[in-house]
Amino acid sequence: MTRAMATPSLRPASVAPLPPGLVERFAAIVGPAGIVADPAAMEPWLIESRGLYRGASPLVLRPASTAEVAEVVRLAHAHRVAIVPQGGNTGLVGGAVAQGQMILALGRMNRVRAVDPVDYTMTVDAGCILADLQVAAAAQDRLFPLSLGAEGSCQIGGNLSTNAGGTQVLRYGNTRELCLGLEVVLPDGRVWDGLRALRKNNTGYDLKHLFIGGEGTLGIITGAVLRLFPLPKERPAAFVALAGLDEALELLSRLRRATGDALSGFELIPRLAIDLARKHNPVAIDPLAARHDWYALVEAEAAEAGGGLGGVLEAALGTALEDGIVVDAAIAQSEQKRRAFWHLREALVLAQAPEGASIKNDVSVPVSRVPDFIRRATAAVLERCPEARPLPFGHVGDGNVHFNIQQPVGGDDAAFLARWDELTGAVNEVVAALGGSFSAEHGIGRLKVADLRTYKNPVELDMMRAIKRALDPDGLMNPGAML
Ligand code: FAD
Ligand code: ZN
Repeated sequence: MTRAMATPSLRPASVAPLPPGLVERFAAIVGPAGIVADPAAMEPWLIESRGLYRGASPLVLRPASTAEVAEVVRLAHAHRVAIVPQGGNTGLVGGAVAQGQMILALGRMNRVRAVDPVDYTMTVDAGCILADLQVAAAAQDRLFPLSLGAEGSCQIGGNLSTNAGGTQVLRYGNTRELCLGLEVVLPDGRVWDGLRALRKNNTGYDLKHLFIGGEGTLGIITGAVLRLFPLPKERPAAFVALAGLDEALELLSRLRRATGDALSGFELIPRLAIDLARKHNPVAIDPLAARHDWYALVEAEAAEAGGGLGGVLEAALGTALEDGIVVDAAIAQSEQKRRAFWHLREALVLAQAPEGASIKNDVSVPVSRVPDFIRRATAAVLERCPEARPLPFGHVGDGNVHFNIQQPVGGDDAAFLARWDELTGAVNEVVAALGGSFSAEHGIGRLKVADLRTYKNPVELDMMRAIKRALDPDGLMNPGAML
């Protein structure tokens, strides 16, 4: 397959001023607390977590209500002013990075409108921080299961717009599965009130799914009805050394069966990840005494404490040990130990930046093909760059591998990053051959636009463009992202 160039852009875009008088009119809508026009003060909305992009914008607006968002969008639409919606700005594909457009940031819309424990739902503003929603649900003995490394700063509107995955997808699904209704400001400023708390509603196209994973290209999500679950009272977890990569599949399958599908996490971790985590984070532990090539962090959820699920997990791991699938395992005997396991999982992500340049792939294949994929992608990368250090890890229970490639030890950052297209292309060819997806959870943004053109089926691309034209004929919503 031939690929268009997709190298991340490091150059800031130029900024054209807004039409005369417009800034004042926007200011009148959002008030002094809702406008940032000073270039230095805009910095938090212009930086990008990976340093791949540099945002540029004439204005950041921070409306405080759906009505204000609608008024801003109406005015912008009338003057053909393009908008980049922004949540917590933690996205990993440059989707929220303005390239000269006005930024509309949702952070001031952070109200939990209602928690309904009987309906098992929660109605929230789009700018709520994910971690705050987890706390609000838990206060009513309910679980909002979405969980990811950026949960302390990403917003639910961003999670919905990227259809975020995270570490609990195995049991609860992606963000798409956690949403019952949406409130959206359309590109012309009309408000779509789809805030329904219905589990059954077969009345035509399910429009919320256009905006979930829509990356802000079809409108601005301002509110959502989210699904809640019983709050688990116990989370038995184990850190397991696998006999090999193939054994990960057998263990996953066995643990799902043994726990009655109460398995909520199954994270694959290679040895290099533990070494890097410990090198760059003094608090990260190595849970097992000996060194092994592959590990799995597994976790299940029980409705009641002391209900025996911990024993079930331990027994299943004992049998796997006898059968040679597992070679060693540490059971979390305390909440503190369980957290230490997950801390290691987070530390391995954060260790990649201080270790030098890293080329990222967030891909998925059918679960059964994960070992095959990792072997073939590793070979493809090492064939092109023998000194590179592949670091495949991730949510293997969902077939999702973050096939990151760390630069050679002592290598040059820029020289390595210059090979981004070549190495991600090599990985994506393997993904395509195995019937997988080149972007499993992070989306398209600005980083993977060329990949979308290369790998998406032309009929699907046509339908996507038709939807974009129908809802946003002037192309004012997040231009440059996705399509
Ligand atoms: P932003 O980055 O602000 O925006 C993301 C996209 O959504 C942009 O296109 C933006 O225009 C659009 N958008 C934002 N808000 C709205 C809105 N209200 N209406 C319309 N469009 C909007 N992602 C995963 O899926 N799984 C992970 O496990 C995971 N782990 C991460 C770990 C770390 C340490 C980091 C830094 C990121 C991780 N991510 C992960 C990526 C990121 O956190 C998610 O994509 C998250 O959902 C983005 O939310 P945000 O509020 O930061 O959105
Ligand atoms: Zn992930």
